[in-house]
Amino acid sequence: MISKIKILRCDFDLIQGELEANSPYEACGVLVGTINGDTAVVEKAIPITNSNRTARSFELEPGEFYNAWNNAGKSGKEIVGVYHTHPRSSAVPSLWDRETMQNDPGVWLIAGSDGVKAYVWDDGVRAVKIVGF
Ligand SMILES: [Zn+2]
Repeated sequence: MISKIKILRCDFDLIQGELEANSPYEACGVLVGTINGDTAVVEKAIPITNSNRTARSFELEPGEFYNAWNNAGKSGKEIVGVYHTHPRSSAVPSLWDRETMQNDPGVWLIAGSDGVKAYVWDDGVRAVKIVGF
């Protein structure tokens, strides 16, 4: 089970920038990298169009998601998680997030109005520690 996520400062900044640029709508994207034991190592955050653009939900545009997934695989990487933003609420999974997380084994990184936090679904929402490189 994943208990830590490593992310580069520049990707962290990119996600913060997406939060601000898309506010009040949610922004979303994927985290590409590798899984190393209990750590998801993010090598790159890739913004994806939110095809359900509201202030309360997101949906990764399927074509862009496929391209990101395909490109990751070609270079021996995988999609280790997704990120999305909560421009008007805290970085805590919403009810919708919780339901969706149950079908997604990756890390959920949420940039909220109170900072960035990460989670996985493990019979419930469990926090994942964010560490720098
Ligand atoms: Zn959310």
